[in-house]
Amino acid sequence: MRRGTDKPAQSGVAAESARPQLRVIARDQHGISRRNISNGALRVLYRLNEAGYEAFLVGGAVRDLLLGGHPKDFDIATNATPEQVRGLFRNCRLIGRRFRLAHVVFGQEIVEVATFRGIGEEGNADRHVVDGRIVRDNVYGSIEEDAIRRDFRVNALYYNIADFSVRDYVGGMADLEKKELHLIGEPELRYREDPVRMLRAVRLAAKLGFRIDESAERPFAKLGQLLCDAAPARLFDESLKLFLSGHGLASFRELDRSGLLQFVFPATAAALRRERGVEFRRLVERGLANTDQRVQAGKSVTPAFLFALLLWGGVRERAERAIASGSDVLHAWSHAADTVIQEQTARVAIPRRFSLVMEEIWALQPRFEQRMKKRVMRLLGHPRFRAAYDFLVVRAEADPALAELAQWWEQAQDSDPAELGDVLAAPAPAAADTAAHAAPRKRRRRRRRKPS
Ligand code: ATP
Ligand code: MG
Repeated sequence: MRRGTDKPAQSGVAAESARPQLRVIARDQHGISRRNISNGALRVLYRLNEAGYEAFLVGGAVRDLLLGGHPKDFDIATNATPEQVRGLFRNCRLIGRRFRLAHVVFGQEIVEVATFRGIGEEGNADRHVVDGRIVRDNVYGSIEEDAIRRDFRVNALYYNIADFSVRDYVGGMADLEKKELHLIGEPELRYREDPVRMLRAVRLAAKLGFRIDESAERPFAKLGQLLCDAAPARLFDESLKLFLSGHGLASFRELDRSGLLQFVFPATAAALRRERGVEFRRLVERGLANTDQRVQAGKSVTPAFLFALLLWGGVRERAERAIASGSDVLHAWSHAADTVIQEQTARVAIPRRFSLVMEEIWALQPRFEQRMKKRVMRLLGHPRFRAAYDFLVVRAEADPALAELAQWWEQAQDSDPAELGDVLAAPAPAAADTAAHAAPRKRRRRRRRKPS
């Protein structure tokens, strides 16, 4: 579920936009069926309506239903105040100080109910703007005002529970048909109010297969760097939505194409531009394609693996540079990992529980190249072996020179431990210290000793 408190509304459209033109699409003119709306959302809509309030399904859910998708979360907009909403539902709590919202809870499902936001005066106690950014916004208003304060026109469609029609105040229906993303209001102003809208544009374009309209993309070059000051915790949430929602590969390409990647993942963008950038791009794309498949198949995915992929190019380069200038191998890798993680978490707040796993995944990579009995056994028993091996497989998909190594470890895992132990010769003492970047010839020689 998304964090409602992170959704600033906007004031920048107030001066510039005329009163929006309403178009009502009758129930038989659109494809939304109540069967595809969650029970919780329907109960909230009906209860509000029966109590005499206006109640609409709004935002991403309406957009996705019109496109034939199955929304995971349902947002409701109403003219009832949060307190009035609470009065109607026992299972309701009010959240958020900056953006006050009601959450109605039905078991696992949480339905978010927001009161129409209005266009208040800047400096009003209920709206607070700092450097063009909205930091507090509790001005209530009309549905028209609520519509023009949303981000994209396709996100400002309202499904009315009173007559099952869809209300379109800003031309969102036409955009849905053309598969285009347009911001509501003046783009520069809207991005200055909330720079994360640039990432939302990229994410929606990737998720829906839409094109970001020129007017909405033009400011990226000038304003993209505002993302460097966005709250790192919010960028972490946004990163998960970009990469772990089943359209990660498309998000990556769109971020890269639009030039925003460098502001959120600077080490990734830099590694793509360097000498081994082509191979690194292949690795990221293969990894994200695998992740998308897992998400689509309902399997679990972990942010640790995702960030390990995105940052691998930067870590490897740093480590290899240090090793080339005489640094100890283990130290070089752990120092590279620390530095890259530290730089990245200044932008995107990756929680420690994930970055610890990332470090382990990376640290185990050079160890795959050491195929002496004791080390092989130790690595096979490592708690992070599986994740690190999966990472090796993605590396091998991107770099054919690693294919044999990945295959060797696949067989090693499946072998009977006693048999494997017999096959692997004990290492010569000098070779035991040879780590990740042993001379290719030596590696090749050792690779011949495959387990039976
Ligand atoms: P999805 O749920 O697929 O991630 P969404 O459009 O529903 O996409 P949410 O974060 O759930 O995204 O937001 C719900 C709605 O709130 C949006 O459709 C939009 O109308 C409004 N909204 C969200 N974030 C912003 C923002 N930063 N500025 C203006 N309006 C926003
Ligand atoms: Mg949503």
